[in-house]
This record gives sequence, structure tokens and C-alpha cells, in this order.
Amino acid sequence: TKGAAMVTAVASRVQAQRKQIDRVLALFQLTREQLLGVREKMRIELEYGLKKKTHALATVKMLPTYVYGMPDGTEKGKFLALDLGGTNFRVLLVKIRSGWRSVRMYNKIFAIPLEIMQGTGEELFDHIVQCIADFLDYMGLKGAQLPLGFTFSFPCRQTCIDKGTLVGWTKGFKATDCEGEDVVDMLRDAIKRRNEFDLDIVAIVNDTVGTMMTCGYEDPNCEIGLIAGTGSNVCYMEEMRNIELVEGDEGRMCINTEWGGFGDNGCIDDICTQYDKEVDEGSLNPGKQRYEKMTSGMYLGEIVRQILIDLTRQGLLFRGQISERLRTRGIFETKFLSQIESDRLALLQVRRILQQLGLDSTCEDSIIVKEVCGAVSRRAAQLCGAGMAAIVEKRREDQGLEHFKVTVGVDGTLYKLHPHFSRILQETVRELAPKCDVTFMLSEDGSGKGAALITAVAKRLQMQGKE
Ligand code: BGC
Ligand code: MG
Repeated sequence: TKGAAMVTAVASRVQAQRKQIDRVLALFQLTREQLLGVREKMRIELEYGLKKKTHALATVKMLPTYVYGMPDGTEKGKFLALDLGGTNFRVLLVKIRSGWRSVRMYNKIFAIPLEIMQGTGEELFDHIVQCIADFLDYMGLKGAQLPLGFTFSFPCRQTCIDKGTLVGWTKGFKATDCEGEDVVDMLRDAIKRRNEFDLDIVAIVNDTVGTMMTCGYEDPNCEIGLIAGTGSNVCYMEEMRNIELVEGDEGRMCINTEWGGFGDNGCIDDICTQYDKEVDEGSLNPGKQRYEKMTSGMYLGEIVRQILIDLTRQGLLFRGQISERLRTRGIFETKFLSQIESDRLALLQVRRILQQLGLDSTCEDSIIVKEVCGAVSRRAAQLCGAGMAAIVEKRREDQGLEHFKVTVGVDGTLYKLHPHFSRILQETVRELAPKCDVTFMLSEDGSGKGAALITAVAKRLQMQGKE
């Protein structure tokens, strides 16, 4: 009959559409072989970064940090810390009492307006100093000369603990006249320009290092720091003899891997999708930080958005209408992705979130959007896990161990807010590094506290040097 024929026609159209959607989702489903491939390639790039001969061309820069060890619990005092480069800019006062785990913190969050992130370097640092002034006022500390630790979450080439030349901006920053400059000097100059107070800048610290330090303060097995947030990066304790860029063979030093640059030589192009390419091309730093762009909070929503645009173009979503909203960059922040993927959320609530984002969806649409988010974040967690497997396996082999037990200090909005990221990351590491027993330890406020701890250690060593 006519009715039955219509039903069949609709059913086969639905089936065809399903196939088209599955074809797109499949691009994000990595096989075990592909993940092993990522682990192997990451391992190669880690070695390139450490070796004198290959360092200059390495995409994973393996930057020495001049942090030689963990705090020993004797550090004490009052410190200022700055935290720039994550979701928020913060100024902190950190009080460390000697004896374990006795840290008190006061902090204030300041917005960094887009025009400052992407204005001139002088404007950026003047703004930072303005925020410090506000904070000192607020805390009643004007005139106090406190040692300061600067958590600066961008790649810096260091020659000592209080010097760091910015290699290049990442994430949402693009202030002019900073690349190739010493960030500590820029901060000192801005303090001089203001001419209101003096600060003793003791250390410049990557957020991964701060995170590792904070966890290391409580767990002596912690020798790796991971950030899975706006950006993505790892640091770890490496044997001095393997760090060819720094004199000396004794002991260990923390290496800031800057693994976000993995893939910038095209070595993972085989797993990149057209959507990844679109996200890269539309970013502030095309061609750079390719791995970061597949694994971190700043970009996952953008990948999702590119897929949704494509599915809509194919008539599979939003009634085929690409709205102005869908064309808007940055609408899917980590917190929305996390909400959409939450298992406790009914589809109706997913639709409500999409509504909030200005996207009118049917129930079918909301199912597809949720699937797309799931595929993108799952791949991110697996890729991050494959990278981590390369690190822990390297450490195990370097120490000639059959089994290696290690703790990774972690921070970052993606790790903390997303309902599945951390679990999939851990499963992947377990699978790809079976001889390693890796514990992930959440570091509450790692970058601020860690900067203070590093500053305390550096200050102690400085004083000892003067005696
Ligand atoms: C930066 C790293 C930083 C990471 C996490 C990346 O974009 O290059 O230095 O550790 O983001 O904040
Ligand atoms: Mg941070």
C-alpha cells in the first residue's frame, strides 16, 4: 500500500542519514594500532628535543626548567604568586609554614580583556602590574617586599630559574613584542614604569611544573605534572645525563616538554581530520600546537562546531540551516561540552543548553550533538593518554625497571570538569603502558601553590649561596 511504501522510504532515508553521521564519527575513532603509533612517535620526538643535534628542529621542545628537586618540607615564608595563561589570571598570597602541608592562600581573579591579550606587550604587562597593585592594596600589603613566583603558562627558554625567554604565544594570547624577550625583564620593567612598589621576582614557572611541585609536596612518588585545560602540556623529572642542553650529569632536572607542539612536523597528519585542519587554520597560530589543538579545552568545542557545521551543510542537523550562532567561534566552551556529555542529563536538558547557546534543536539533533561531543572528547583523552604512555614508558626504561610506579599531578578544566575525560585518559595509559602503575592526583590550585613552593626553594638556595 501507499502508506507502507512511505514508511519504508522514510526508514531508508533515516538509515542513509545515520550512515553519513557514522562516517563522520568514525574519523575520530582511533584503533589501538593508531594509538600505539602516537605513543611511538611521541617517544621519538621526546628524544629529539633532548638531544643537542636534533633540538633546534624538534617540535616537542623539552625545555630545561632549572628546577632540580621537590620541596623538602622545610620551606617557609610569605610569597606572592602570579598565574597567567590558564582560564583566569590570578594574583595570590601564599603562606607556607614549615612542616608538611601547611599552606594558606589568598587569591584574587582578574579578567584579562581580549584587547589586552592581543594588544602590545607593554599594555599586557602594565595591566598585570595594575592587578598586582590592586591585590596588594586589597590585602593591605602595599610596600611589603615579598618574593614573587610567576607562573607563566607558555613555552619559555630558561637559563636559570628567574629568566625565561618567550618562545611563542599559544592559546588565546598574541601580544606584540614579547616573543624572544625575557618575560621576567618585561615584568620588572612594568613595575618600574609604575614606580609604586618593588617586588623580588625569584622564579618563573610553567603551570605543569607548579602542578607537579604541589603534588610532590604531598606525594614523593609524584614526578610528572600534567595540564589538561585550556591548553595541554606535561613536565617530568629527567636524568641530567639525558639533558644534553644543560651541563652536568648528576641528579635530575624537571623538563617542560611543551608536548602541545607534537605533530607540527606533520607526523600525525594521518589521524588529523578536515575538521582539525579547519580549527588550526582559524586559530591564532596556524600550523602550531597541532596536538594541543586535538586535546585541549580551548579547541575541542571548535572541532565540535566544525563538525556540526558540516553535518548541517549535509542536511543532517538543524534542518539544514547554518545559523549565525553556529558560525560564531568559541561558543562551545569546556563547561558546555562537559554539561552536554554528562550522563545524568536528559536530552531535554541538552536541548536547553543548545538553546542557551542560541541553537534551536530537535530531539534528534540533540542526540547527534551529544554523539559528536563524545567522539571528539574521547579522542582527545586517548591521544593525551598515548602521549602520557610515552613519557612513563621512557622513565621506566631509563631507570631499567621492570615495573614503574609513579604519580602524575594534574590540573586543568578539561580534566576536572569533563565527565569522561579523566577516566578515558587513565584507561588509555593503563592499556598503552601496562608495565607502569600510574596514579593521577588532582592538584587543587597547583600553579599558584607550586609557584610559591618553587620560589621558597629558590629563595632558600639563594640565601645559602650568599652565606
Ligand atoms: C603552553 C604550555 C602550558 C599549557 C597548559 C600550552 O599552550 O604552551 O606552556 O603548560 O598550555 O597551560
Ligand atoms: Mg592554570
